[in-house]
Amino acid sequence: MELGQCFLKDSLKQSKSASNLQFHEHIKSLQEKGVKIHHLGFGQSPFPVPQFAQDELKRYSHVGEYLPIRGLLKLREVVCQLHSREDDLHHFKASDVIVGPGSKELIFLLLAVTNGDVLLLAPTWTTYKPQALLSNHTVHKIPTNFEEGWKLTPERLEMVFEENKVKKNSVLIFCNPDNPTGTSYSANELKSLSEVFRKHKLLVVSDEIYSRLSFSGQYTSLAKFYPEGTVVSCGISKWASCGGWRLGYHLYPPHLKAVGDAVASAASQTFTSASAPIQYAAIELLKFGDNSRSYVFHCRRILQAVAKFCCRTLEEHGVHVREPHSGYYIFPDFETIRSGLTARGVTTGTGMCLALLEDTGVAVMAGGPAYLHGDEDLTVRLCYVNFDGAAALTASEELGAKDFDDSFLEKFCAPTVDAINKIVAWVDEMKIA
Ligand code: PMP
Repeated sequence: MELGQCFLKDSLKQSKSASNLQFHEHIKSLQEKGVKIHHLGFGQSPFPVPQFAQDELKRYSHVGEYLPIRGLLKLREVVCQLHSREDDLHHFKASDVIVGPGSKELIFLLLAVTNGDVLLLAPTWTTYKPQALLSNHTVHKIPTNFEEGWKLTPERLEMVFEENKVKKNSVLIFCNPDNPTGTSYSANELKSLSEVFRKHKLLVVSDEIYSRLSFSGQYTSLAKFYPEGTVVSCGISKWASCGGWRLGYHLYPPHLKAVGDAVASAASQTFTSASAPIQYAAIELLKFGDNSRSYVFHCRRILQAVAKFCCRTLEEHGVHVREPHSGYYIFPDFETIRSGLTARGVTTGTGMCLALLEDTGVAVMAGGPAYLHGDEDLTVRLCYVNFDGAAALTASEELGAKDFDDSFLEKFCAPTVDAINKIVAWVDEMKIA
């Protein structure tokens, strides 16, 4: 055994870097060697940071002081106003908000200070489980399926409680709209889920990082129906294309004040406070005035048009996929080519993704273990955002309220259109094989 291994906790001896980031770095290194790849394996916004936010950031670049642990008061006030106006959540005050260097870090600190088990949907975002293990929690998986739109249902949740010894005071992480499936929940679905959450006294982290990108322009938060037990987790990484700015926030309801206080205390002992210039610049974004609204309108409609094209084309070739309600991802199932793959000696999702990459140059991430599925699962997470977002955004802005015609995607989202066409041609070949 390598010497360094002796110093690690047993639970971490097998730990790896975030699987999505690792995959992205592998693909980037191939690209740097000159291999031409259609990279549908990494989901970050294709659009530029809004110009007005860039201007704000320049204006505050001189601020070098540490800011309050929970974040600038003005920023926290603006956050509460945004969620009150847009999502009808009126129970949060500025003192309930914690701003951090990305919502990912805040989710981790929440897990670090809580003592129950962690309940996660399968599939779900790749980071939750490694974070739960890093903070020594037992994880319970809640299977979801294509037929039910990859959604959590009260029955599925009850089943997990019947079949497992779930600790009291457990945490459920609920990604809505979801990464990787793109699904989201209606008010009625959230109401029914709330009853079960309440019955089991769960602390639910409602990860709403994709809420503002909801294609319908409407979003309903779980916190409307289960206010006492829901921590809202959100930020500017997705709708404002500011992933690299590293700024996210949590909203803790009064009933969970002790948890919020513990997270704030852990924050003070770890990252101190989120970056000062970024916090100042985020205020203008999170005021969510006409500038932010117009930006998001165009991003949303481009993403939705691309998503619709991808789903329609895949379905036409027998690859089943749910149309997403938000975000950058779909989660198609390639079961239709299982026998063709088996004939080629390929029996796992990872093997299938490697074969696809070798044969077509298209990179997608296997929907297996990283998404709490078995290795034999033939789902993939496909990110439909490998196009020039700046050009698409300008073109959409020039069109104004007029709808896109058919040529828009071919003109401005050609790399995604090409990649999808390559995938379906490969699928057809595999069916014949
Ligand atoms: N939640 C989900 C579901 C995500 O996809 C991501 C980013 N990939 C995050 C949280 C992290 O966001 P942030 O940049 O605020 O840390």
